[in-house]
Amino acid sequence: MRKKIVLALGGNALGDNLAGQMQAVKQTAQAIVDLIAQGHQVVVTHGNGPQVGMINLAFEAAARTEAHTPMLPMSVCVALSQGYIGYDLQNALREELLSRDMPIPVATLITQVEVDANDEAFRNPTKPIGSFFSKDEADALTKQGYTLKEDAGRGYRRVVASPQPLDIIEKETVKALMNAGQVVITTGGGGIPVVREGHHLRGVSAVIDKDWASARLAAMIDADMLIILTAVEKVAINFGKSNEQWLEKLSLHDAERFIAEGHFAKGSMLPKVEAAASFARSRPGRQALITMLSKAKEGIEGKTGTIIEG
Ligand code: ADP
Ligand code: MG
Repeated sequence: MRKKIVLALGGNALGDNLAGQMQAVKQTAQAIVDLIAQGHQVVVTHGNGPQVGMINLAFEAAARTEAHTPMLPMSVCVALSQGYIGYDLQNALREELLSRDMPIPVATLITQVEVDANDEAFRNPTKPIGSFFSKDEADALTKQGYTLKEDAGRGYRRVVASPQPLDIIEKETVKALMNAGQVVITTGGGGIPVVREGHHLRGVSAVIDKDWASARLAAMIDADMLIILTAVEKVAINFGKSNEQWLEKLSLHDAERFIAEGHFAKGSMLPKVEAAASFARSRPGRQALITMLSKAKEGIEGKTGTIIEG
């Protein structure tokens, strides 16, 4: 059956440096085109941890030189990472499609995601970004409006909030491209976080979790399936312990219970299971799948991975 799929790529689909990314996107493109070849409509999203770190670091380093290059707001760093990752990914996809005689257009969409200025995440920013600063540098940056926190005796680091995604600003464009049979790469790095001020969208210093943003997008474009591709084939309970158990199916009820029992690590598997469950819960018939890139095709056929459904 032909499905509308949002495919969220994890860090291992993209590598963690320039050469690594060039190489990784080739395999990633093969796996994605396998799904398109089966007749599925695929919208691609992705993470950006190493890339946004690299971009932020480069501008931080430049800000410390005589040139006085300004530090970039996090929203701008995310926008740059969408462009950079999208550039490699769309070219790898184009090449793979053409090599299989499937001349389907591919494009990357700079995508903004609305967050609530009153999201409680802004009151307690927790996500560390970029390099370490001395106390003096930290004081100077604090005066400029940045939030810095001491990080385990290693110095000061910028921290940003991780608010919940509310709206995908460019969702109609995503739908139009998808409905025209084109492949679109969107909501990269969880999207550029913005708050609405009338007609103005103001970029804010935050990073949105890519799994949550992908689940939001999937609901908004009325996808049938959200596939979160990561480094493990299935979700486990008692992960890493002697009684570890890999799950093939996860009901919404069990997902809630296992979350409460602390089976999923914060910042890695927890947001995936929560986001997958929120999508599956959003409408009857919607399914989420968590598996690894090389197993995506088998996963859709129900042969592997962890399926989360109502
Ligand atoms: P991504 O870049 O794909 O978002 P993450 O590193 O954030 O990847 O999350 C995936 C990782 O979560 C897995 O590689 C695994 O090591 C870890 N993990 C934590 N808890 C679990 C669990 N209960 N079951 C499976 N994997 C888990
Ligand atoms: Mg992650």
